Amino acid sequence: MTTSSPAARPLDCPCGGAAPDQRGNTKPPRFAQCCGRFIDGGEAAPTAWELMRSRYSAYVLGDTAYLRATWDASTCPADLDVDADAPGAPKWLGLQIKRYAAIDPTHAEVEFVARFKTGGRAQRLHETSRFARGEDGRWRYVDGDVSDH
Ligand SMILES: [Zn+2]
Repeated sequence: MTTSSPAARPLDCPCGGAAPDQRGNTKPPRFAQCCGRFIDGGEAAPTAWELMRSRYSAYVLGDTAYLRATWDASTCPADLDVDADAPGAPKWLGLQIKRYAAIDPTHAEVEFVARFKTGGRAQRLHETSRFARGEDGRWRYVDGDVSDH
C-alpha cells in the first residue's frame, strides 16, 4: 500500500459533457463514462475536443500527471503542478466549448471559456487551444492564444 491515494472522483463529470450533437441533454454524464475513461482508464481521447474536456476535468481534479501526459513535451511547463487543494488554487466552475475545428488528421483547434474563482473573484479564461496528434495516435495540447474578451 502507498500512503497517497488518488483524489476522490466525482459522480458527475466536471466537464459538463454537453456534446454539440446532444442538444437538450442538460444532465451531466457520469465521470466514469466521460473523462474518467481517459484520465483513469488510459483510453486515448479520439478527438482533440474530448481531450480538451478531459484536460479541464483534470484541472478540476488536480491531476498533474494526466495533464503532463496530454501536454506536448516541447511546451509542457517543467514546474507544472495543479494541486486543486493548494492555497490560492483556482476553483473551476465550468467549461463551455465554443468552437471545435479539425484542421487535418493530426491538428485541431478548440476555443473554450473556462470559468473559475481565485481569491473570491470570479474570472473567465477564453482561449483558443492548439492540439496535435502524435505518432502514437494520441492527441496532446500544444499551446493556445488567450483572448481578452
Ligand atoms: Zn467529461
